[in-house]
Amino acid sequence: MQPSLAAAFLFLLGLSYCLTLPIPHEDSDEFRTEDLQFAERYLKTHYNLRSSPAGIRKKNANSVAAKLREMQSFFGLEVTGILDEETYELMQQPRCGVPDVGEYNFFPRKLKWSKNNLTYRIVNYTRDLTRAEVDRAFKKAFKVWSEVTPLNFTRIRSGTADIMISFGTKEHGDFYPFDGPSGLLAHAFPPGPNYGGDAHFDDDETWSTDSRGYNLFLVAAHEFGHSLGLEHSRDPGALMFPIYTYTGNTGFLLPDDDVQGIQALYGAGDRDPNPKHPKTPEKCDDNLSLDAITELRGEMVIFKDRFFWRLHPQMVEAELVLIKSFWPELPNKIDAAYENPMKDHVFIFRGKKFWALNGYDIVEGYPKKIYELGFSREMKTIDGAVHIKDTGKTLFFTGDKYWSYDEENQVMEKGYPRLIEEEFPGIGNRVDAVYQKNGYIYFFNGPLQFQYSIWSKRIVRVLKTNSIFLC
Ligand SMILES: [Zn+2]
Ligand SMILES: [Zn+2]
Repeated sequence: MQPSLAAAFLFLLGLSYCLTLPIPHEDSDEFRTEDLQFAERYLKTHYNLRSSPAGIRKKNANSVAAKLREMQSFFGLEVTGILDEETYELMQQPRCGVPDVGEYNFFPRKLKWSKNNLTYRIVNYTRDLTRAEVDRAFKKAFKVWSEVTPLNFTRIRSGTADIMISFGTKEHGDFYPFDGPSGLLAHAFPPGPNYGGDAHFDDDETWSTDSRGYNLFLVAAHEFGHSLGLEHSRDPGALMFPIYTYTGNTGFLLPDDDVQGIQALYGAGDRDPNPKHPKTPEKCDDNLSLDAITELRGEMVIFKDRFFWRLHPQMVEAELVLIKSFWPELPNKIDAAYENPMKDHVFIFRGKKFWALNGYDIVEGYPKKIYELGFSREMKTIDGAVHIKDTGKTLFFTGDKYWSYDEENQVMEKGYPRLIEEEFPGIGNRVDAVYQKNGYIYFFNGPLQFQYSIWSKRIVRVLKTNSIFLC
């Protein structure tokens, strides 16, 4: 039986479409015909774009521009209704096959199971992993949800379970075909009879138990969220965010957004072994403090917990993304960062290690140890770092002290460390994050930032930390 009429409808539409993507004139050379077809297919699959006959372009809620705006808004991009490079790049990221929004969603809102004891069955296996590894990944993925709800999951080995789990490729029996390697990774149906609750995994992917290919546990935990009635979240930190990011191999913690979502459906249960669920930072939080801040090729990059905000000078809205989605090798939290524009490198510090980034790439030979910069081997961490263009020196802050590093000769300067309050009185006795711009150094300490004039050697303004986002 078909999961819904919408499925057949979408399937038929897939057979024919016309090119109606609005693109800016100056950019029109950048996208090839197949890129535009790809983008249109993406909007059909995930944003319920419906085809209209060629030549007839109605300006309605279903136009391509409207769907692009819907998508850009969902992902917190600049909402232009135009296919730009950033939007196109996002479309190419591997993701879940369940649509993000739209009336022809896989399912109507607020579906849930009316019982707390659910069964699952693993119908077939991928060859990428041993059967025991697959079993463990699914078991662990169910545990993510049973720990924060009164739900129980029992595996059965024959007959029909509530949640039937299978691997398949391309068209695999439900009119929602997979697409070969990458792209769509998996999808799942909401609670209900027949297909309801079932989870399908694209076996053209390479499944793993670590960072290689796609991590089966992480994708399964996301899909089972759908099996239980959750939709996609706009929170880039949520497990139910539609795009795949490998978030590390140890100690997975279900983010707060997902906990709120599932508990709204089923209640809390009483066996959460780790009630600390990571929250996604709010840029306009009055008490916002930062981990690190740096420029990167003209953009501000502002680190907080597992995330960073990108703040482009021409854009009002900062975009929040997971550190791991840009630089999978970097840790989930960082201490300090600075840009050396002469080398076109950004340096990232965490504990005793540091990395050099060249755009998206980590420079070969990194991470290195901070003692290689001239710090003592006992030094555990760096709180903040800033490169001063005019002097060619980089200042490092830890505790109530600071150091000066000569970038040209690659040596720590003599006579350091010194006390922060001697050189920069009034900024407090620690630095969370620091950057320099137009002759000023901006020091962040908890919810406050201090604008310090390099020329007059004094604080000229005290601001709220969140004012960097124009809150
Ligand atoms: Zn999904
Ligand atoms: Zn399927």
